[in-house]
Amino acid sequence: MPSPFDATGMVMQEAELLKPYTTFKIGGPARYFANAASTEEFREISNFATKIELPLFVLGGGSNILVSDRGYEGVVVHPACRGVEIAHEDAEAVTLEVNAAETWDDLVHYAVERGWWGIENLSHIPGQAGAALVQNIGAYGQQVSDVVQQARVLDIATRTPRALSAAECGFGYRRSIFNTTDRGKLIIVGLTLRLSKHGGAHLDYPDVRAYFQERGIQHPSIAEIRQAIIAIRDSKFPFPREERGGNAGSFFKNLNLAESEYASLREMLRRNFPKQVVARLEEIRNRFPSAGQIKIPTAFLISICDLKGYRIGGAQVNETQPLVLLNQGGATSQDVIALAQHVRKTVRERTGMKISIEPELVGFTPRELAEKEEQ
Ligand SMILES: Cc1cc2nc3c(=O)[nH]c(=O)nc-3n(C[C@H](O)[C@H](O)[C@H](O)COP(=O)(O)OP(=O)(O)OC[C@H]3O[C@@H](n4cnc5c(N)ncnc54)[C@H](O)[C@@H]3O)c2cc1C
Repeated sequence: MPSPFDATGMVMQEAELLKPYTTFKIGGPARYFANAASTEEFREISNFATKIELPLFVLGGGSNILVSDRGYEGVVVHPACRGVEIAHEDAEAVTLEVNAAETWDDLVHYAVERGWWGIENLSHIPGQAGAALVQNIGAYGQQVSDVVQQARVLDIATRTPRALSAAECGFGYRRSIFNTTDRGKLIIVGLTLRLSKHGGAHLDYPDVRAYFQERGIQHPSIAEIRQAIIAIRDSKFPFPREERGGNAGSFFKNLNLAESEYASLREMLRRNFPKQVVARLEEIRNRFPSAGQIKIPTAFLISICDLKGYRIGGAQVNETQPLVLLNQGGATSQDVIALAQHVRKTVRERTGMKISIEPELVGFTPRELAEKEEQ
């Protein structure tokens, strides 16, 4: 039996239940669990995992994962290195060095309070700053890659620290090298962001525009924008709190379609739905500005398939924002998976569209994962 202490005496907790570390409030125990407050501690925990030949998983705020009821047969490392420093400041911009465990929304609040533009539309996204790079978080027309200059990482295999430029991070829609080519290979220890002192407001999104039109505000301040984003999100997207069960934000990704894919979607809708639904599709296609591709919100497809409120066990499709699957109390990972499969299958059969899952599934067997992908 390996010792729960590594060479330097760092404590590895055994059989630590992961449920409380996730916003879904679902998941069994990790074989080993440890906090890491520095690059050195990340390195020691990686050594420990290699020594006992178990995989390593980085668990940030747990807001974009679904952990299996069986838990994780490996070593879970939880970043605990917080802190923000100003690396450079001039009349135009400020460059911030942010440690991975900083709470993302605290960072947004900090920037907005100082009038630094670039991440205000990303208000109220849960999780840690390091993890924000993994799926290149985005909302209401902004994404974190717009302001990232560098990521500081630790290579798990070689245990060497490296700095990656924004280009090397390979950012795209909900993707980066951290969740594709280098998934599970790098620990993000910190990031460098450049924020502008004279930014322009991003008010293109219909909900944001409507919010300010209703209030007669033409040139909102950065603080008003943060306030608007929080109000809009809270009206339809439950921010995970202890008393409200749980969720992992959007469970499904939106669709970015080529013209030909859009044409086949329209044809399927024409065959399977009333005329108004096709008219609505045409309207939506023009609502979301997206270069080169046609963005179709998956929530629209889930809604027209009458899946809002659909429930399996303790898991339910959210009524107001159906991209979100809710743990209504006592849901198991199997409930959530069964519900997600039902949604994907129904949408596929009725609209022809294959929708993918956004959160990472942790602790599931390769066979279970393959079965889910077949949908
Ligand atoms: C209510 C709600 C609303 C949300 N809204 C949005 C939204 O508008 N836009 C959006 O893009 N996302 C949204 N999300 C998803 C989620 O908040 C983000 O993806 C967030 O960045 C995840 O951060 P986390 O710390 O919780 O990561 P976790 O869930 O802990 O981890 C997610 C992935 O990142 C990896 N990871 C975490 N930290 C590190 C690190 N330091 N180094 C390497 N890998 C790491 C993990 O291994 C895992 O693969 C929402 C979630 C919820 C619950």
